[in-house]
Amino acid sequence: MPNPVIIAVAITGSVPRRKDNPALPVTVAEQIESTHAAHEAGATLVHVHVRNDDETPSSDPARFAAFQEGIRRHCPDIIVQFSTGGRGRALEQRGAMLHLRPDMASLATGSVNFPSIVYENPPGFVRGLATTMRDLGIKPEIEVFDLAMLTNTAALVAEGLILPPPHVQFVFGVKNALPAREDILDFELALMRELIPGATWTAAGIGRDQFTVARWALARGGHVRTGLEDNIRLDRHTLAPSNAALVRRTAELAAGPAAPSRTPPPRAASSACRPCRRGTPPEAPVAFHPRGTAASPGGQRRGLASAPGRRLHPAFAEERRRIFAPAAHPPRPCLAQRRTRCPGAGDLRQVPRHRPDRGQPLAAAAPFRSLHRRHPVGQPAAALADGI
Ligand code: ZN
Repeated sequence: MPNPVIIAVAITGSVPRRKDNPALPVTVAEQIESTHAAHEAGATLVHVHVRNDDETPSSDPARFAAFQEGIRRHCPDIIVQFSTGGRGRALEQRGAMLHLRPDMASLATGSVNFPSIVYENPPGFVRGLATTMRDLGIKPEIEVFDLAMLTNTAALVAEGLILPPPHVQFVFGVKNALPAREDILDFELALMRELIPGATWTAAGIGRDQFTVARWALARGGHVRTGLEDNIRLDRHTLAPSNAALVRRTAELAAGPAAPSRTPPPRAASSACRPCRRGTPPEAPVAFHPRGTAASPGGQRRGLASAPGRRLHPAFAEERRRIFAPAAHPPRPCLAQRRTRCPGAGDLRQVPRHRPDRGQPLAAAAPFRSLHRRHPVGQPAAALADGI
């Protein structure tokens, strides 16, 4: 099946707090649990920031290592992408975990204003991160908040600091950066195809723009991103009960107009989680969504099960190969070798499941009513956009 959709889930970010949405995964154990549930719902790429115990952003390599170790154990097929951005992290620390060799890492190729800060990415810093990623075989995801970031990317590709084909993410809806306008996406795509032909791409909308931008991307053959980092609500009246719920909504969009239901499908994955908690990878996680295919009752996973003995649907595997373009990267160690590089991960198998996040409509969640008043209906909390 050609051109499947990769759904990226940005599980935590650096700005939202539990007081904004109690479903936000903060500890590494919670992040692994949330990623696992999102993976079962259809996410095939996880973008992660880590937090300190007080919820402030962290650059601690040990936390990134623990997350990656847990994900490799519980969701071995998902693409792991570390964030090198975000508010509250010292510039010199933002790439301090790249030696862990995640599959991907974010790379903003220029500076831009965010709602209340300047998101600083000086030229030398960008070149340093790009060089490190190239040398370690990490696929960068180019974060395009403004047009110059796209032209800068073309220059870095021409110079050999970013290996072709690059993977670009267009971000819309951050206050003081690019607004969510469909014509801007079209212009960016045309420029991308001219300057860096062969590039793959994702579009991400912040806050209330998230699902709108996802529709634009799907209509144009792009990939999509969701998650509590970018958007804490399912709709203007309801806090998202989990990252998985946002992924399910996005998967419904990817499946096409025949699947508009907003009712979350039954959670058929509970039995699949148990072996994972015992340290055994879940069986046959379905990790892609075909475009324009009606969802089967009970969730998109049904009917897409991998053939016996295969972990990934072949179409997703092909798309993953296309993005990663193995020929463009130096040889990498196998997963088993990489796991041995995370001795600080500890035993995450006994971590209790975090379950206060199931089905909390805003109206029924008394503690959030004050939050609702602070952020009127339809108005995303401006600060949430600072932490891409
Ligand atoms: Zn981020």
